[in-house]
Amino acid sequence: MQIYNTQNKRLEEFKPIREGEVSMYVCGPTVYNLIHIGNARPMIVFDTVRRYFEYKGYKVNYVSNFTDVDDKIIKKANEEGVDSSVISERYIEECKKDMAALNVKPATVHPKATQEIDGMIEMISTLIEKDFAYVAPDGTVYFRTRNDRSYGKLSHKNLDDLQFNMRGIQVAGEEQKEDPLDFVLWKPKKEGEPYWDSPWCQGRPGWHIECSVMSKRYLGETIDIHAGGEDLIFPHHENEIAQSEAANGKEFVHYWMHNAFLNIDNRKMSKSLGNFFTVREIDEKYDPQVLRFLMLSAHYRSPLNFSADQMEQAKASYERIVSCAENLDYLIGNAGKKEDAGLTDAEKDKLPALEQFRGEFEKAMDDDFNTADGIAAIFDLVKWINSNTDEASSSEFLNASKALLTELCDVMGLITERKSEIEDDEASYIEAKIAERQAARKARDFAAADAIRDELKAKGIVLEDTKEGVKWHKA
Ligand code: AMP
Ligand code: ZN
Repeated sequence: MQIYNTQNKRLEEFKPIREGEVSMYVCGPTVYNLIHIGNARPMIVFDTVRRYFEYKGYKVNYVSNFTDVDDKIIKKANEEGVDSSVISERYIEECKKDMAALNVKPATVHPKATQEIDGMIEMISTLIEKDFAYVAPDGTVYFRTRNDRSYGKLSHKNLDDLQFNMRGIQVAGEEQKEDPLDFVLWKPKKEGEPYWDSPWCQGRPGWHIECSVMSKRYLGETIDIHAGGEDLIFPHHENEIAQSEAANGKEFVHYWMHNAFLNIDNRKMSKSLGNFFTVREIDEKYDPQVLRFLMLSAHYRSPLNFSADQMEQAKASYERIVSCAENLDYLIGNAGKKEDAGLTDAEKDKLPALEQFRGEFEKAMDDDFNTADGIAAIFDLVKWINSNTDEASSSEFLNASKALLTELCDVMGLITERKSEIEDDEASYIEAKIAERQAARKARDFAAADAIRDELKAKGIVLEDTKEGVKWHKA
């Protein structure tokens, strides 16, 4: 398998640290709002990378963090007059719902920055001991960038150019830095901000340190793959390398993988530009699988321009896969009713073609996870199935065709069953009724609340009041 390594700017053969295992860390979102579909790109892409490794027989340890302490979270918490953990917990839950809708597998571990403060204090203390960090008069701890001889090796920047580019940029607290290139590891608290005790001051961590600490804690000092969107290459990932390698004295990451941007009108989709769609908005109009399909129809290192046209095309293409699977199910059902004489001679001759499609698919995916070509291989298979199966096909032949189609789609995280519109409507109907009942209870109109419960009960839906909220199931 070949992986494009951002650090060495070339394709490299994948060699795991431990035979048969892959350790992977993917930088996750800052949770202060619903995620947009740009944030969904790394989730979908690296979930597919993980799935392909699993298909190949590797055990994948997949860690992806939630950044749950950050200026934007604090700002939103202050606006709503709640603790910042209320905001972060709310959007972690929402993000998990979006991931489930996109069929992104939960990570092996989803650590949260606020749960890892001890580890961060420990790593920062080590950096100070090793002279890679210093405490400024106000208690801020900075990383001493110039002590790191290899700084810039990921982003291919050199320190003097960086320094030149920084001239004239005045950042708060700059005057206490030894060097403008130094970056924050720990900063003192400000009014209205969450804080933790530390040997230097009551305060909170800088952003970069969390990933160095969580990656080490859950995956070890050296890991196979570290990934994220390409905007993270500098400074985030560069600083992670600096911190980890200085603290541990070992190489941090073997393969750095970065996805290109999802753009709108050729500009990066981002919260700050306001040119974004949330995953939730897209789900209202389309099956979330269509979005997943669209993301995978481009190579992860190519920019992808999002448009309504692209979504419509993706919808039509994905529909071809679903119809093929549906048709196979129909034929399999019918074949089951007939006396089964097993594979015909003609079918025996045709079966090896299936393995050729598998080969085509693997060749694409082995080449730096070329999902665009992987999907093309799936379409070649769909075309072949459509023209080689009919009412006369044997169960065995039909099942072999269906098994391969499902297996390859599963590597892409694409579900081949048609999502029942009725089921979908039913779920949103029930959710709406539950919300109505909650509103009635809040207004202390218990009669109305009970009437809604009874109405749902008559339809076979049972409501359960739990600590986490109202849950429902079928009787
Ligand atoms: P953030 O919450 O901004 O830290 O982003 C979470 C992840 O989404 C990071 O890996 C970013 O690189 C990635 N990301 C943000 N915007 C985009 C975009 N428009 N296209 C692709 N990836 C993005
Ligand atoms: Zn990170």
